[in-house]
Amino acid sequence: MNSPWSLTAARGEDGALSVGGCDVRELAGQFGTPLFVYDEDDMRGRAREFRSAFGEAFAEHGTTCDVFYASKAFLSSRVASWMFEDGLSIDVASGGELEIALRGGMPASRIGLHGNNKSDAELRRALEVGVGRIVVDSFTEIEVLDALARELGVTAPVMVRVTTGVHAGGHEYIATSHEDQKFGLSLATGAAFEALTACHDAPGLELLGIHTHIGSQILSVEAFRESAERMLGLRAAFSAYAGVDLPEVDLGGGYAIAYTEDAEGLPIAKAAREIAGAVASALANVGGAWPRFSIEPGRAIAGPAGLTLYRVGVVKHVALEDGGSRQYVAVDGGMSDNMRTITYGAEYTAALAGRASDADATLSRVVGKHCESGDIVVRDVDLPGDTARGDLLAVPATGAYGRVMAHNYNAVLRPAVVAVKDGEATLLIRRDTLDDLFSWDVW
Ligand code: PLP
Repeated sequence: MNSPWSLTAARGEDGALSVGGCDVRELAGQFGTPLFVYDEDDMRGRAREFRSAFGEAFAEHGTTCDVFYASKAFLSSRVASWMFEDGLSIDVASGGELEIALRGGMPASRIGLHGNNKSDAELRRALEVGVGRIVVDSFTEIEVLDALARELGVTAPVMVRVTTGVHAGGHEYIATSHEDQKFGLSLATGAAFEALTACHDAPGLELLGIHTHIGSQILSVEAFRESAERMLGLRAAFSAYAGVDLPEVDLGGGYAIAYTEDAEGLPIAKAAREIAGAVASALANVGGAWPRFSIEPGRAIAGPAGLTLYRVGVVKHVALEDGGSRQYVAVDGGMSDNMRTITYGAEYTAALAGRASDADATLSRVVGKHCESGDIVVRDVDLPGDTARGDLLAVPATGAYGRVMAHNYNAVLRPAVVAVKDGEATLLIRRDTLDDLFSWDVW
């Protein structure tokens, strides 16, 4: 459960790594490096596990819990089609993600649109295709959406994004429900209540319920419990005021995964049971009919399924102040395909992937090829002392917030993405080309 390596990652007799039955040396030869490799069985297995664990845990209390895959973690049209086939819905956070989800065959009615600053065009498109829910994030949006819906002669299904004040998650930039940040409407100041009233009264809107997302990489169910209690308290207060029991409560995503061998993730089935139990006691305290629930995991579905394959270019040994030394292993990507280390100080591990080695484990740092000393992929990891130019290196658990955050700093070409399963590799996203760079560069 807590390995950072995906389900089908295995070493062959010669010590080379394979995933989904595909030898990484062949993948690198065919698709080049850096390369994102997604283990299809792993990702889809996690998606189905979320659906069944949360579905069953909430069914014990006589209600439902839908799973919206948070596509910001990683999206391609094929991924959207997997989620559809596996019975999940999708959460999108921009017009671009919306189009890819639709392209992959996800029915609009199973798409939720997020965003703290949706454009008129994004809102209009969401209404035209008939998305299942729009999570409103401001009073401005409530007004704009109401007017647009009336202009188009439709009713916009909305949820209000609530800032519950529960501060959870691994880093300030991924904690999203404390007060002093840009998302949502505050429970504490009464803004959330006011927004609910505004949506309820707006003729162009249909108020489905309330939504919260408290952060990412959350290891303790306690934070979810606290936020569920506050959300159900708000629902009860609104019910007392408006005389309606809001039909749906979305508790967001944020389920932690293990990025390294000694780290832990949040076990899905246990989290499902405990969150459903916490919701049941909270509801018993405040009263009201059971709502439908939904959740939005992203990282915990895509993260462990993906790894990045790099080619080693330069290896340097650098003396440390304490008298020791560190092996710097420079690979052919870096902060352009993994923004998480430089942005959040995220920790990863790495392993020699194309061969086995008996050389001594050596304190190493995996760095990229960019013009920044902070261009680090893995800060501290033991790698064989004979790691050399031409070796393949794999960094596991890069499936979430990896390729989707990739950029072209130093005019590098963003990596390709392949899905592997039963010995077959399928291209999901092709590598950028020099022609792509030239097509953006107006000359
Ligand atoms: N839902 C919302 C509204 C989010 O903002 C995010 C992440 O930023 C998620 C879900 C997914 O979070 P995670 O990938 O940590 O599960």
